[in-house]
Amino acid sequence: MARKIGSRYTVHQVIGRGSAGTVWLGEGPDGPVAVKLLREDLASDQVLVGRFVQERAALTSLDHPRVVGVRDMVVDGDDLALVMELVQGTDLRSRLEREGVFTPQAAVSVIADVADGLAAAHAAGIVHRDVKPENVMLDLVSPPGPGGAPRAKLTDFGIARLVDAPRRTRATRIIGTPDYLAPEIIEGLEPRAAVDIYALATVLYELLAGFTPFGGGHTGAVLRRHVTESVPPVPGLPDDLWRIIAGCLAKAPASRLRAAELADRLREQLPALAGLPPLAVPAQGKAPAEEVLSPGEAVYAEAETGTGVHRRRRGPAVPLVPVPSPDSTRDTHTSLRRPSPQELASYAAESQAQRAAAPVGHRKGRKALVRRRRMLAVLLAVVLLVAGAAAAYAAFAADHRGARRAAAAGCGAVSSGLAQFPAPLGAATGCLRI
Ligand code: ADP
Ligand code: MG
Repeated sequence: MARKIGSRYTVHQVIGRGSAGTVWLGEGPDGPVAVKLLREDLASDQVLVGRFVQERAALTSLDHPRVVGVRDMVVDGDDLALVMELVQGTDLRSRLEREGVFTPQAAVSVIADVADGLAAAHAAGIVHRDVKPENVMLDLVSPPGPGGAPRAKLTDFGIARLVDAPRRTRATRIIGTPDYLAPEIIEGLEPRAAVDIYALATVLYELLAGFTPFGGGHTGAVLRRHVTESVPPVPGLPDDLWRIIAGCLAKAPASRLRAAELADRLREQLPALAGLPPLAVPAQGKAPAEEVLSPGEAVYAEAETGTGVHRRRRGPAVPLVPVPSPDSTRDTHTSLRRPSPQELASYAAESQAQRAAAPVGHRKGRKALVRRRRMLAVLLAVVLLVAGAAAAYAAFAADHRGARRAAAAGCGAVSSGLAQFPAPLGAATGCLRI
């Protein structure tokens, strides 16, 4: 069924569905296009529509062979549409699910392409913020790159930023898939270009290993791993390539390579990787491809799906190394810096001052509580003392009666009766005749 979008475009059929909307195959004045119609709730958000119009110039001017071009942005009645270059191929997620992990050379070739696209965007001051396999398109009609790898293009530029309106709650502002989130985003810092590098290195890791380094299980656990754990190594990966990946997954954004550097360094690796088969990395305890999210996790997914049922993909439940050690670079990371002795001293002084400044009523209440506790302790001691004395007297009286009966029966009987007491008592008592 054909449908008009604005005055210049017609869409015919759905070719994909994503978190922000539906992608249609369409026709424009210059030929076939892909049209992404944003979700209704997003399209009716006036703040978002305003941003959409504002970003139009930046997004439509980003013209690079490794970026899916945005040809137009249309606001038409209830429709909010992004008109894009039509890529004849598939997205990286679908390819990964259908054919499994890539050869090291193909993986590096695809990621070097995406790094080229990112370099162009970063140079234009645009941070992608949602780099993930779903947003990498593989062009299956252009001649392939090294190792027969299809050419890759990055798509959905600026969508994360558009959808992430400032008046949404703080929790829902963490949008995107948790597996690719850089630690600084989790800690609430403003996302800069380095977040895209972290996400892209995560995608490279996934193409090689079949799962992401910090994915699996509850969203909270994934977020914690990003911030605190070191990257589980990929067995069998050439050292140079591993160093590039680990460097781009550094907790400290400033330690990561820039996009253009990353593209260069990856291309340098290509000859050495020729002919290497895909790595056979055991995905221990591999979890089912999808899971229903708990209400807590759904908070993070809300901005992604906008539906009642929240599902997301997840990696293996058990990471490659059984108990990943805490990341040794963590104290280089802004928010994870350990406090200096001076800071600790000032915290102590501060908390002392807070205690001193506590309201008078509060302090009086505490004193009364301490007094009550002391009185209770004294009362308990007195009760115990009285009970002890009573028991001792009862024992003594019983013995006394027994001794008198024994005296009547003869000394031997008394001695055997006393044998159960400690020696001094028995000895001192001797043979009494009363
Ligand atoms: P997501 O929110 O998961 O990133 P998208 O809405 O961007 O999803 O896209 C959904 C699907 O539509 C993609 O997985 C892809 O298969 C298809 N698609 C998106 N953009 C294009 C395009 N420019 N050309 C062809 N297909 C596209
Ligand atoms: Mg997308």
